[in-house]
Amino acid sequence: MFNKLFSYFSHDVGIDLGTANTLVWVRGKGVVIREPSVVAMHKKTKKVIAIGAEAKKMVGKTPATIITVKPLHGGVIADFDATSAMISHYIQQVHEVGNVIPVAWSRPRVVIGIPSSVTEVERRAVWEAALSAGAREAFLIEEPMAAAIGEDVSVFLPTGVMVVDIGGGTTEIAIISLGGIVVSRSLKMAGDDMDAAIGHYIRLRHGLLLGESSSEELKMKIGSAYEGKLKAKDPKFKKESDAILKAFEEKPENDEKHIPLTERTIKIAVVRGRDIETGLPKSLRVSEVEVREALSPVLSQIIDGITDVLEEAPPELTSDILEHGILLTGGGSLLAGLDHLIVERTHIPVIRAEDPLTSVVRGTGKVLEDDSLLQRVKVIGGLR
Ligand code: ADP
Ligand code: MG
Repeated sequence: MFNKLFSYFSHDVGIDLGTANTLVWVRGKGVVIREPSVVAMHKKTKKVIAIGAEAKKMVGKTPATIITVKPLHGGVIADFDATSAMISHYIQQVHEVGNVIPVAWSRPRVVIGIPSSVTEVERRAVWEAALSAGAREAFLIEEPMAAAIGEDVSVFLPTGVMVVDIGGGTTEIAIISLGGIVVSRSLKMAGDDMDAAIGHYIRLRHGLLLGESSSEELKMKIGSAYEGKLKAKDPKFKKESDAILKAFEEKPENDEKHIPLTERTIKIAVVRGRDIETGLPKSLRVSEVEVREALSPVLSQIIDGITDVLEEAPPELTSDILEHGILLTGGGSLLAGLDHLIVERTHIPVIRAEDPLTSVVRGTGKVLEDDSLLQRVKVIGGLR
């Protein structure tokens, strides 16, 4: 009877606690919050100063008394205080907007997606954190499961489904069958490592130090995983690139002349950084070819992770996956051509998620709307 009363006032809340981004879904409203997973705190007292976008702005600019932390760094709960501050902040926030009933009275049901590598002890801690933030009931589900549900994959069939979720700090690779995760692996190799690889490459090759966000910007603007064989089909591109190659073969020393032509067919971006030698700011033109070269080792490691998990899987499931393909999701999967590279290396079809940044949080929402589904996929939860 009390439960009914509570549910009348409260919003059910789904949370994707990602290593890079935290998203919040509310019943009847959809995805309402999308913020970086960053918390700024006083170094000594651990008092929280800012959460989300506001805290991210402080990264790299804090005085000695303030620190910024990524609570889920590396796919584990790296800082428990910061994680629970984040959970309670968002639960409060959702209930403040357009609702006169405080969270203490409304007591929402909360579903949280967590990386599958989070330990049992940490899971309990997250669950406790949600309850102390005012949740009436809190449930945890694993992110690959949430992502599959979010993308409308039937997870209860006796058919193997492979999910590859490339986030900021971790890549979650899992094979799901009969409503459970059969094999999984969490690689500490994902979007952040792509940024780092670009920074490293530019420093070695051009002696220019880039900030983290400049490297990420390069990746998003001109980054790609696969040398566009598709582009080569475009007759205009083919004509131009053939002309470049021909001219280059004839007069290799006269390379400069061809740069303007190259610019029209090959993406180029300008970045600003600090020159290592002079210590002064400097800008540089970087081409998509360089970014692709920089990213290549990181992408190979991710693909090795995929083949490792496939090797561990029972053969029946492997053949299902060969037939139905890999579901590719997470923000890192937005890298252009990544699907083509995976197909080329693994010979398995790849299905890209429709909106890879929200697969997990939409999954938590679907689970909240269907109690029998929730009971079948939760890894921890219920009443205290
Ligand atoms: P997490 O679940 O770990 O919080 P997300 O799924 O939110 O991570 O993905 C964040 C990662 O996606 C970041 O590394 C970000 O740079 C990357 N990303 C976002 N958009 C793009 C894009 N268009 N191209 C390449 N990478 C992207
Ligand atoms: Mg994620």
